[in-house]
Amino acid sequence: MEQVKKLLALQSLEKRQRELKTALRQMPMVRELRRLKEAIEGGQDEMRTGKERYNNLGQAIIKGENICYQLRQKIEELQEQLYSGMINNPKELENLEGQLVLHKEQLEAKEERVFQLMEEKENLYRALLNSRAEVERLKEEFRSLRIQYQVRQEEMNHELEDIPGALTRITSEIDPDSLGHYNKLKSRHRNSMVAMAVNNICAGCHFTLAFDTIKKLKEINELVFCDNCGRILYPSGS
Ligand SMILES: [Zn+2]
Repeated sequence: MEQVKKLLALQSLEKRQRELKTALRQMPMVRELRRLKEAIEGGQDEMRTGKERYNNLGQAIIKGENICYQLRQKIEELQEQLYSGMINNPKELENLEGQLVLHKEQLEAKEERVFQLMEEKENLYRALLNSRAEVERLKEEFRSLRIQYQVRQEEMNHELEDIPGALTRITSEIDPDSLGHYNKLKSRHRNSMVAMAVNNICAGCHFTLAFDTIKKLKEINELVFCDNCGRILYPSGS
C-alpha cells in the first residue's frame, strides 16, 4: 500500500508540474492585460481625434465670429446710408434695403452656425473629460493587474522550481519494480497510471473490477492492476 500511495503522490506531482507549465504559458491574465492595453490605446486614439476636432472647432468659431462682426459692420453702414436722408432715388433705396435684408439674413444664419459649433465644442469638451477619466481608469486597472500577474507568475515559478527535487525524493522511495510498472503504463495512459477503485469500479476506465481483483486489493501488499485497462489500482478510503 505504501508503494501505491507513493506512486499516486508521484502522479499528482507530475500532474501539478504539467499544470503549472501550461498555466504559465497561457495565463488568462495575459489575455486580460492585452485586452486592457488595446482598450487604452483605443481610448488614446479617440482622444487624439477628439482634441483635433476640438481645436478645429475653436478655429471655426473664431472665423465665424469674425464674419459675424464684418456682417454687423456692413449692416450698420447700410442702415446709416439708408437713413441718412442723402439718398432719394427710389431705385437706389430699394437696392439698399434689399442688401440690408440679405446681410441680416446672412448674419442670422452665421450666428446660428457659430452657436451650433460652440455647443458641439462644449459637448466635445465633456466627452474628452470622460474619455480621459476612462483611460486613466483602464491604466490603473492595467497596472494593478500586471502586479497581480507578476506575483502569480513568481509564485508559480517558485512552485515549479521545487518540483524536480520533490520528484527525485519521491522516486527514490519507490521500489524499481513498481516504478518500472508505472513508467511502462505512461505510454498507454499518459497521465493517469494510478486509478482509484471506487465502489469496485476502476475510476480510470469505469469497468467493474473482478471479485478476485477486489480481494487482492484489500489483502495483499503489492501492486494490483485493473483487469481491463491495466492501471495500478488505489483503493478508495486508503
Ligand atoms: Zn481500469
